[in-house]
Amino acid sequence: MRDHRMWIGGQWVPSESGRMMTTKNPSTGEDHAGVPKASAADIDAAVRAAREAFPVWSGMTQAERNKVLYEIAAKIREEADAMARDECAEHGTPYNDAYGVCMGAAAKFEWSANAAYRLMGEEIPVPGDTLTYLKNEPVGVIGFITPWNLPTIMTAVKLAPALAVGNTCVLKPPSINSAIGLKFAHVLSQVPSLPKGVVNIVTGSGSEAGAALASHPEVDLIGFTGSSETGKEILALAAPTVKKCVMELGGNNPVLIFPDADIDASLKVLAWRQFNNSGQHCSGPGRYYVHESVYDEFAAKFKAYAESLKVGDTTSGDKSIQMGPLVSAEHKAKVLGYISGAVAEGATVLTGGDAGTQYGSGFFVKPTVLTGCTHDMTCAREEIFGPVAVLIRYTDSDDLVTMANDSRFGLCAHIWTRDISKGMKLISTLHVGAVFINCQMLTDEQPWGTSVKESGIGKEGGIFGMREFVDKKLVCVKYGE
Ligand code: NAD
Repeated sequence: MRDHRMWIGGQWVPSESGRMMTTKNPSTGEDHAGVPKASAADIDAAVRAAREAFPVWSGMTQAERNKVLYEIAAKIREEADAMARDECAEHGTPYNDAYGVCMGAAAKFEWSANAAYRLMGEEIPVPGDTLTYLKNEPVGVIGFITPWNLPTIMTAVKLAPALAVGNTCVLKPPSINSAIGLKFAHVLSQVPSLPKGVVNIVTGSGSEAGAALASHPEVDLIGFTGSSETGKEILALAAPTVKKCVMELGGNNPVLIFPDADIDASLKVLAWRQFNNSGQHCSGPGRYYVHESVYDEFAAKFKAYAESLKVGDTTSGDKSIQMGPLVSAEHKAKVLGYISGAVAEGATVLTGGDAGTQYGSGFFVKPTVLTGCTHDMTCAREEIFGPVAVLIRYTDSDDLVTMANDSRFGLCAHIWTRDISKGMKLISTLHVGAVFINCQMLTDEQPWGTSVKESGIGKEGGIFGMREFVDKKLVCVKYGE
């Protein structure tokens, strides 16, 4: 087990108190890494470092900053194999997926460098010898708090656009897989052109280090991804200093399978997404409403897909593994609890449904398909966030749109039908932030996120996400009599 340090002001430092936390290898349940457990004092040091670095970084020309961002991307590509192995070991991501994620992380920096040129100011026409315009300025010091489910890409998705437009940052990675965040810091530390203090990565618990960051008076914006429950706590912590908050929160996404859906094509996308990253995706399918005429076919093919997957230890060196463990023992227990709860409420386990005996002390849950579920069951109401498909049979007399909208979440919805006109008409009836018709996300640079119900506030990614990280300052100049 290796002990790590945090990265504050361009220095590798222990926590001020000397306290440490231990992370696990979820494939084996063994200890993986020791990481510093930061307190409010460590967060304060990091915020001060970011504040000091702000004039230097925001004062650079776009071309100067872009050169640094391209160097970061190149370093990520160089280190991708080592970064991917760390993600296999501390998150349980299969190697090929983890390597692809690192390439995606590099691309975020390149894309953000290019996109920053597109953030034009806007002139407001006023008669006379006057000039009135909106000037884009970086918001200042940003505090980022990230979730454990996509540790490497979440770091890149947040840092790249924020840095591109001149902000400096303090990022607190999730405590469960903090060493992956520190690996990112290690990569950044090898880019000498990145001024000290522009990025600071501080590990610690959410309740202590995360809360100190969310409430720090010198932090101008909080960029958070995580559960809706934690999101509400963070909004309360940020309120006394009226911080801007960009919140990417939970979901329980409805999937509408119409009688005319191409079942094979739908499962190629949906079943893959259901079990990729062990089902720990906010945008993944949550509850499937399947028309009675295709329900049995859909369920049988879902089962066959689930049983075809190669599940195993993502640190074994076997690159053909398609699904690893869940992230932690606690999360495994939670997901198994949803399955046993569903059975108690009347659902049937078509396949999977348990931890499997072949995985030792790893945090595995077998790819699971539940049938006979109803809209009112807990498994259909809550965000399971695991490799569990919840299949609900509906008939022509059911009000599908009402069921789809009947949730405290509003992240996204999936529609599968060969009748595109029917699908398009449904878009405005669904109270969600994104609708996927016969597909999943199509490019990496789509702005993601929603301000619908408890699923978040604002956008992340793409040019709309980048705009969250600038303030538009009104400037009025009178240059004549
Ligand atoms: P979580 O809310 O438990 O933790 C997220 C982060 O918040 C962690 O870094 C944690 O240490 C920190 N934290 C916890 N309590 C805190 C507090 N009081 N103050 C400040 N920080 C605190 O979420 P998770 O379990 O890591 O991630 C899974 C959740 O994230 C799911 O609900 C999923 O839907 C959501 N998610 C949403 C998106 C999206 O784009 N909408 C993307 C990925 C994940």
